[in-house]
Amino acid sequence: MTKSETIKEGAPVSWQDTSLGETDQVQLATQIMNIMEQGIILWSADGVCQLHNSRVFDVLELDPSALGIGTSRADFLAAALARGEFDAAQLAEHKRRFNTHVAFQFDRILPSGNIVATYARPMREGGYVVTFTDVTKARKSISELASAKQAAEEAQAKAHTILIEERSRRAEARALTDLDEWLQSCKSLDELFKIVAKFMAFLLPGSSGELYLYSNSRDVLDGACDWGKNSGLSDNVTPDSCWSLRRGRAYEFNPDALCFPCDHIAAGREMGDYVCIPVIAHGDTVGLLHIHFAAKSSRADIKSLGRFATRSAEHISMAIANVKLRDELHSQSIRDPLTGLYNRRYFMEAMRRETAAAVRGGKGYGLISFDADKFKTFNDNHGHEAGDMVLRELADRMRTEMPDNAVCARVGGEEFAVLLPKSDLGESMKQAEKLRKAVEAMEVRTTFGLLPRVTISSGVVSHMGDSTSPSALLKLADEALYVAKSGGRNRVEASKPATR
Ligand code: GH3
Ligand code: MG
Ligand code: MG
Repeated sequence: MTKSETIKEGAPVSWQDTSLGETDQVQLATQIMNIMEQGIILWSADGVCQLHNSRVFDVLELDPSALGIGTSRADFLAAALARGEFDAAQLAEHKRRFNTHVAFQFDRILPSGNIVATYARPMREGGYVVTFTDVTKARKSISELASAKQAAEEAQAKAHTILIEERSRRAEARALTDLDEWLQSCKSLDELFKIVAKFMAFLLPGSSGELYLYSNSRDVLDGACDWGKNSGLSDNVTPDSCWSLRRGRAYEFNPDALCFPCDHIAAGREMGDYVCIPVIAHGDTVGLLHIHFAAKSSRADIKSLGRFATRSAEHISMAIANVKLRDELHSQSIRDPLTGLYNRRYFMEAMRRETAAAVRGGKGYGLISFDADKFKTFNDNHGHEAGDMVLRELADRMRTEMPDNAVCARVGGEEFAVLLPKSDLGESMKQAEKLRKAVEAMEVRTTFGLLPRVTISSGVVSHMGDSTSPSALLKLADEALYVAKSGGRNRVEASKPATR
């Protein structure tokens, strides 16, 4: 042992004391080393243990036989490797560093789980002084602090996300309430479609889409409305051309995933993320809502927009069902169920409207009242059902032969009337004659064969802005009709001025 050793690199510690002998100094140094917290080993330049304190056995959890003066560092490290304090690659690295003559440090994990920080510092004369410090508690509190900090950050981020979600949920709820209010006050489907297009463009900015509704025949869906730049109503969408209608639930198309586009998407249309949502009201699928999302939307945005779109579709579905029900009730109140023509009540109302317009200086209108000839006999001979078929066919002739603005009605059993806006008596006579001929030429076939032809007798009158009331005018037309009956039937008679 030399008179001075380097415990701390570059800071020689003198063992020389004038009052102590050399042996005393070594004993003093050994005593000091033994009461230190750290374990200490002095390795000579050729890797042999020159000095160690007794604390090293506690810190490294070693049996006293594992280390002594003269133990080689190679054996000492090999034993530590065998205990699993580090792996072979780390051992090779430690050995390499012992030859570099620079300070280094590493952690070893003892079989008990304790962590020991190992500091190796080169000595000026060669060799290393190595200290071993139990840092288990310190490391644990650092890692506990780090995980507490991480937990706090995570909780904060979660609270932030919840806040944002809550805000957007409230904004969505407000938007849906607004949408509902507008939808509830819709008077017609046309109005509803306008509101849907406007709201969807507003609620899903940058999106494009369309609403389709089942046609009455229920074999195709017709375009009702669309919005956005990338929209395009497809003609005659068939139910089997849409995955959502085939599966009975919303279908999300993601161009980057394994899924297939619906056939109803118009050719040449930009194919980004989209969603198709069946429009279902009272358990009945009434249509389809198709929404293309803005090109730059993230996957998370698309997910939440898709959920919102589905909720909007539910509200739209209910509104469509309500308006349809209202339309149906209204139609039932003004239409004749057998022929689909307007009923007497609606016809009288239309006459009142036209009379008021004529009195205000409008153009007046023509009125045809007609009745099927000998229809009782027809029914008696061919049955009531055949009679009904004829009445329906007759109504079809009215729809095809009369001008578009004519109001065609069934006002009684086999009695009908036509209101011809802006038509004088001459024009109305022409229309009545045209209809008479069309009915005369009508062929109605049943399973038993062709039915005999049916004819009609008509009375015609016109309202030219005078004070004649609708019921008085209808009476005049009926009087002309009786003249036609008594004149031999299958003819048209004008209301004679003398009879007015
Ligand atoms: P006219 O040429 O004088 O009008 O003779 P008509 O037999 O047509 O006249 P009438 O008033 O005696 O008989 C009307 C017939 O119309 C009686 C009725 O059976 C028939 N009728 C009324 N409503 C319906 C209906 O909804 N379906 C069928 N099949 N027949 C009806
Ligand atoms: Mg009759
Ligand atoms: Mg009659």
